[in-house]
Amino acid sequence: MERFTVVTREDDTSVSLGRKISNHLTARNKIFDQIHPEIIISVGGDGTMLHALHQHMHQIDKVHFVGIHTGTLGFFTDYQESELETLLDDLVFGQPTTEEVQLLEVKRFNGDRFEVLYAINEARVENIIKTQSIDVWIDTEYLETFRGNGLCVSTQIGSTAYNRSLRGAVLLPSIRAMQLTEVAGIHHKLSRSLSTSLVIPENYLIRFESKSYYDSILCYDHLHVRLDGVDAIEFRLCKKAARFARYRPTSFIKRLNNLY
Ligand code: NAP
Repeated sequence: MERFTVVTREDDTSVSLGRKISNHLTARNKIFDQIHPEIIISVGGDGTMLHALHQHMHQIDKVHFVGIHTGTLGFFTDYQESELETLLDDLVFGQPTTEEVQLLEVKRFNGDRFEVLYAINEARVENIIKTQSIDVWIDTEYLETFRGNGLCVSTQIGSTAYNRSLRGAVLLPSIRAMQLTEVAGIHHKLSRSLSTSLVIPENYLIRFESKSYYDSILCYDHLHVRLDGVDAIEFRLCKKAARFARYRPTSFIKRLNNLY
């Protein structure tokens, strides 16, 4: 891949590493191209990779991503800071394989009109001001009326992120599924919902309906939009995918072990 760009976290270490990568690659006749890169190199953490993915969402099917972590080993990042030389050699001489990661498609409905958003980790409805009531539908079947702070729909790759803090299960990479978890659900004699997380296969549709989403927000990865005026939200795993350049085998179990 000849045309590259670099997305860095704003700390000194990441900025300096990003500069080294750019200088090294341009000195070897690679082309720095922020508009039409073939490969995007993320320098920072998993959060930096999320920023890089969303910055290039409009051309996600045309670009590859690779990440170097300036903290620990992340889930989106294959190299640690001490492995800079290996990354540089791989970028110049390596032949990567492509790993595709399915995106979560989220539709915000206002009557018949809708807007589409995409997430890599998760999308969640949250209301920290008042109790949010949500009727949950799985395909055409009614599951429950949830009451509480909100609900989170996570992807497999997002299962180690916010989903894990909500006590959702961690899913291994070959599992193509969404996971629905509660955020501070209310459970007593008059209010009941599943309370555990629910793992839902990839071809299903999840629909949240509410009489009012006033004061609620829809967070998707590090981004968010307000839900005032929205009456339903749909979630599904879609054909759109983020493509990661893999220059060497990676171990999910090793990354997981490194997490705690
Ligand atoms: P951020 O600072 O960019 O990320 C928050 C933390 O989540 C960071 O430690 C980040 O790792 C880690 N992270 C991101 N994606 C991950 C993944 N797939 N697996 C494991 N850890 C992951 O925060 P932000 O900008 O608000 O939101 C970005 C993401 O952070 C969201 O998609 C959400 O999943 C996660 N988040 C988690 C919580 C929570 O667990 N309570 C709260 C808010 C947000 P790095 O340090 O490597 O960047």
